Amino acid sequence: MKLMASKKKRDYQPFEDMLRGLRKRLQGDVQSMSDAALHGGDADGDLSHVPTHLADQGTDAFDQEFTLSLVENDEETLQQIDAALERLRTGQYGDCLECGKLIPKQRLSAIPFTAYCVTCASKLQS
Ligand SMILES: [Zn+2]
Repeated sequence: MKLMASKKKRDYQPFEDMLRGLRKRLQGDVQSMSDAALHGGDADGDLSHVPTHLADQGTDAFDQEFTLSLVENDEETLQQIDAALERLRTGQYGDCLECGKLIPKQRLSAIPFTAYCVTCASKLQS
């Protein structure tokens, strides 16, 4: 028995996957940056273990590239991703926090952790 079954069904699974993938990648980046800081002394000549996972991620690479190009502050983005995952759990994901309208999936595909529709986002930014 699934408690979520009574909820209005919206197909946000792909966005959840994107959010989780993005979260992992950002956390990985944060961690490798700390590692580099901790082991700064022997950074030279250590290029043999540069992770190749970036090259291996064939699927949805273009989405992630696009999303990551918008990422300026990893920590802030992680918080936004966590908030978006929380909204997925509570069934509020995809609703604009400002006006309550549905955020178009096209926008969610570009920025899966956004909490606002285009109109409200541009209002809030100005
Ligand atoms: Zn809105």
